[in-house]
Amino acid sequence: MVSAYIALGANLGDAAAALRLAVKAINSLPLTQVRQKSSLYKTAPLDVDAGSAPGGDYLNAVVEVETSLAAPVLLAHLQHIEQEAGRERPYRNAPRTLDLDLLLYGSARIDSERLTVPHPRMMQRVCAGAIG
Ligand code: AMP
Repeated sequence: MVSAYIALGANLGDAAAALRLAVKAINSLPLTQVRQKSSLYKTAPLDVDAGSAPGGDYLNAVVEVETSLAAPVLLAHLQHIEQEAGRERPYRNAPRTLDLDLLLYGSARIDSERLTVPHPRMMQRVCAGAIG
């Protein structure tokens, strides 16, 4: 079993409901259990000065999971959950109904074409205030 951290974000529609559903979906993945979850908190969209991240503030949370899934398999499941939430990617940093990022996977360092861990933007989001 590996301890992994997953960031959840949404800035379209009922973001709080989307995050709640996503936590349930993650907890229902095979060989995976949610151990801890953070409060919800707001962050400003990244790259907004460059004009590439329109939309309102994000609602975010982080969950810790214990999983026996390999990291690329876990990522594929997370992408499936995003799709089920109606996520579209019309352009880079488009507003999103649900964004799931694999922040950490144990102490692994992964740098493949589809997966970079630790997540490169992990330290970039500026917390604009926890809302409970
Ligand atoms: P985004 O649109 O920000 O969700 O980025 C999705 C893309 O980032 C996908 O093509 C993933 O394969 C890639 N990616 C690379 N590393 C990660 C990671 N640690 N977590 C989630 N997506 C990742």
